[in-house]
Amino acid sequence: MTTLGTQGRDVGPSEVVIRDVRLAVQAGSGAARTGGAGVAGPPVDLILRDGLIAAIEPTRYPGDRYTRPRLGGRGTATDPSDPDDGTANGTAPDSRTGTTDANGPAVFDAGGAFAFPGFVDAHVHLDKAHILDRCRGGAGLAQAVAQVRAAKRGFTVEDVRDRAARVLRRAIVNGTTRMRSYVEVDPDAGLRSFEALAALRDEYAHAVDLRLSAFAQDGTTQAPRTLGLLRRALEQGADEVGGCPYTDADPGAHVRAIFDLAVEFDVPVDFHVDFDLDPSWEHLSLVVAETRRHGWGGRTSVGHVTKLSALAPADRLAVAGRLADAGIGLVVLPATDLFLSGRDAERLVPRGVAPAVATQVPGLAMAVATNNVVNPFTPFGDADLLRMANLYAIVGQLETDDDLRSVFGMVSAAAEAIVGGARRIEVGASADVVLLDAPDPVTALRECVQPLAGWKAGRQTFLRPRPRLLADGLGRTSEAGFGEDLVDQGRPGGGR
Ligand SMILES: [Zn+2]
Repeated sequence: MTTLGTQGRDVGPSEVVIRDVRLAVQAGSGAARTGGAGVAGPPVDLILRDGLIAAIEPTRYPGDRYTRPRLGGRGTATDPSDPDDGTANGTAPDSRTGTTDANGPAVFDAGGAFAFPGFVDAHVHLDKAHILDRCRGGAGLAQAVAQVRAAKRGFTVEDVRDRAARVLRRAIVNGTTRMRSYVEVDPDAGLRSFEALAALRDEYAHAVDLRLSAFAQDGTTQAPRTLGLLRRALEQGADEVGGCPYTDADPGAHVRAIFDLAVEFDVPVDFHVDFDLDPSWEHLSLVVAETRRHGWGGRTSVGHVTKLSALAPADRLAVAGRLADAGIGLVVLPATDLFLSGRDAERLVPRGVAPAVATQVPGLAMAVATNNVVNPFTPFGDADLLRMANLYAIVGQLETDDDLRSVFGMVSAAAEAIVGGARRIEVGASADVVLLDAPDPVTALRECVQPLAGWKAGRQTFLRPRPRLLADGLGRTSEAGFGEDLVDQGRPGGGR
């Protein structure tokens, strides 16, 4: 059933059935509680056709571990009496995609996994990822800015493309289907990084929607050529523009100049705000004022805003209210903020992570995102948003199912309010589907479970079968993960 598209690419079968998944349901909607871990919806099958979700039906295989075929399994634990079971009529599942592909639609058995449209990374720097090996000389924000600035003079298009692709590929198998990356455009980087990421945006469009924000990391007033380069990037297809007042000699002029570009090109705008914990001064009000002046509510976001963590609760709520009123989204970057904040403290080191959940006010769009990956700003990273959300929940000392549902939203639906384009798994929607090895998002977040498979516009983009525990004393093999159980009464010494 495999067909070739116009690009000569394998576009897969035109119809796919993802069998036995759970969708998100609202708390209190009457669905069964799952051991205090969250709320799981009833088991359903998703029918994907022509890139859309064509139907959602009650599953024919509601999670019976002894009869249901298993993800990526090869003829194991199936029901031989079922004529619809691909393995019964001699068609084993494709070990590459986890699907059966007989005369009917390809069938993918999700084994009760939670399905959603995929993670949304609202703030990542693909262009300067994986450069730790070329940066030396102390840790801290000022050192990071200086080291990266020196390193990017040596960036080539190919170099940026290779490092960025490494992050993108990792993000895809970690379940991310939408991402906003900054790309530094200035006299040091020229347009080389932008050229590299614009090519990747096309190359990986089958798996991830990548938006590019032409970004002035090192300010504009002290490097006026930067504004011209930002303009050229916008002319050449940058989706957004971004600024960084804390590195500019004149933060007010910088914010106004970046906003002028956003208005001229009619694109969203974003600012990196704060990187310190001193509440006696701030740049956020500059962004609020320009957002109001230009009517850019709903198209403006800010990242970090670490000073929020230094404010008293009432002041924090007042700032959050101003952001919500102005229509400015807030993106928290836990890994970087934890790594760089409070470097002058010898004890009781502050966390420096904006307490977004505790700051929740109606209308405030919030996200948790990756930011930097293996560079001096954050010498760690795997583009795994579930791990980042889990880290954020721990740092924020969040515990209840409601709070964790909110945090899961900050790497999925709520983040879409910032990077655009709300998605849901519903009939008629684009068939963007990611499976997590848990019955519901709260369990997924608590346990940092593994993504199992993903589809973008109906086409499968990755497969990560549940791991297997090999050969116990009886020579049996089992899967480890949600619903773990024996999947194979293997022959002693046999296995697969
Ligand atoms: Zn950033």
